[in-house]
Amino acid sequence: MNFPPLEELIQKFSRFPGIGQKSAGRLVFYLLSQPEEDVRELAHSILTFREEIGSCPDCGGLSYHNTCPICTDGTRDKSVWCIVEQQKDVLSIERTGQFKGQYHVLGGVLAPLDGVGPDQLRINELLNRIQSLKLDGKPPAELILATNPTLEGDATAGYLGKILESNFPDIQTTRLARGIQSGGELEFTDMSTLIRSLRDRRPVHE
Ligand SMILES: [Zn+2]
Repeated sequence: MNFPPLEELIQKFSRFPGIGQKSAGRLVFYLLSQPEEDVRELAHSILTFREEIGSCPDCGGLSYHNTCPICTDGTRDKSVWCIVEQQKDVLSIERTGQFKGQYHVLGGVLAPLDGVGPDQLRINELLNRIQSLKLDGKPPAELILATNPTLEGDATAGYLGKILESNFPDIQTTRLARGIQSGGELEFTDMSTLIRSLRDRRPVHE
């Protein structure tokens, strides 16, 4: 027996992270068991989400209707920036409620074996962003390199630290403290550890 729409949807769901063929099948049969109206609402929510949520042209974080709630918030501290790997890391740090500065999302980490070099990350955007603020006389005073304490995250922070220090020697660059388990990720770090790592941040080159 062949049910093309069913198989097509299972294929599509199985492309989701962490979802294999089996789980995809379960999701599809769950949808089939739901009232049509509920499924229509779900489809609508997914579409609205995709259309209205995008990336901020400045920080690279999530934006809503092309407006980034962090960059446009006049009450936030402009003198300290957190530089993170992914948009989801902004959410992790925001959840701590301890950081009221700006962000810059790199969009990944350096991974030469996977073909990710400096040009594939938003490093030039970072340098340009700081440069133009410097021309306006309002450069940040501190950049916190908040990449994950993984091999690639550390290498990326080391590389960035050198570039930032040579381009902007007046700006202090710091790294999150070692509270986060080595090899761990911000996303899965408990709140108190993340708060401690932010508070006890240290210079990049010790
Ligand atoms: Zn922004």
